Amino acid sequence: MRILIVEDDPVSRKLLQKTLEDWGYEIITADNGQMALEIIIKENLKFVIADWLMPVMDGLTLCRMIRSQHKGYVYFIMLTGKDKKEDIIEGLKAGADDYVVKPFDRSELQVRVRAGERILNLEKELTEKNESLQRLNIKLEELVRTDTLTGIGNRLSFYETIAKIHHRACRYAHSYGIIMCDIDYFKQYNDTYGHLAGDDILKKTAHTIKKNIRMSDEVFRYGGEEIVVVLPDQDRKTTMDVAEKIRAGIEALSIENREVERGILTISCGTSAFDMEKPDNRWEDILNEADHALYIAKSQGKNKVY
Ligand code: GH3
Ligand code: MG
Ligand code: MG
Ligand code: MG
Repeated sequence: MRILIVEDDPVSRKLLQKTLEDWGYEIITADNGQMALEIIIKENLKFVIADWLMPVMDGLTLCRMIRSQHKGYVYFIMLTGKDKKEDIIEGLKAGADDYVVKPFDRSELQVRVRAGERILNLEKELTEKNESLQRLNIKLEELVRTDTLTGIGNRLSFYETIAKIHHRACRYAHSYGIIMCDIDYFKQYNDTYGHLAGDDILKKTAHTIKKNIRMSDEVFRYGGEEIVVVLPDQDRKTTMDVAEKIRAGIEALSIENREVERGILTISCGTSAFDMEKPDNRWEDILNEADHALYIAKSQGKNKVY
């Protein structure tokens, strides 16, 4: 553990340094509060033993500055010749953790320094635990919004995102598009090749859809084999174009689905868009419209965009 000694009297400083070094501490010294403050910041020091009366900046001011400005905990022992009860109270009020009167008694100082060390070790442990919890929290936040199988956003994530995009579109009079994608004859695929193979198709589909949209577009697993895409700032026409690219992209994979008439796996897409011509529409209305369009695409023979 490193300790900063702040003491203007060279003899006292040397004595204290020698004592603490004998106990195994690594010592850094400063001869006034101003200098100490700079060292504490630069060296990220956590333990300070400071005299009260010093030129430039005294120990009391140093203590107050540390308490008001410094991030993270610094353990502060005031070591001073000022031994009146009021002095002790003032020192502790300024934020000192402990107060030792000079000339110090070796064994008393030793146990007080050990107490400080204990508190700093606990503080360090707590900080580390806190940081690891924060990291875990960020990961959990991410996980709770991610679909485990495909790695794309899940329904919760969709609800949060669409609400934001809709709000922004209303506020700035923008449009946005929604594509509802659904794999054709997927039940048949599962029946023919098994559920694990089906899972693999879901991953491939999500991947292919992502490849055919922009970074600024959003993709979510909406239900079992339904994937919804949200396209900020796109209108009906451009949304249709993207949906067609997605449909063609899946078709081009030429994944065998031998029990259905086409012989390959395909996807159908229903599209819709929000625009300011119908500003009263809620995002739920736009989603319903896309869902309805999907139904029509299916009824028109599948492997279609409507
Ligand atoms: P359509 O062409 O009209 O969309 O018919 P379909 O067979 O694709 O649709 P249906 O709604 O009848 O069946 C959807 C199937 O999707 C049923 C279910 O087994 C499958 N499915 C849903 N979630 C998963 C999943 O996580 N993994 C796998 N392998 N299959 C899934
Ligand atoms: Mg002094
Ligand atoms: Mg389907
Ligand atoms: Mg479906």
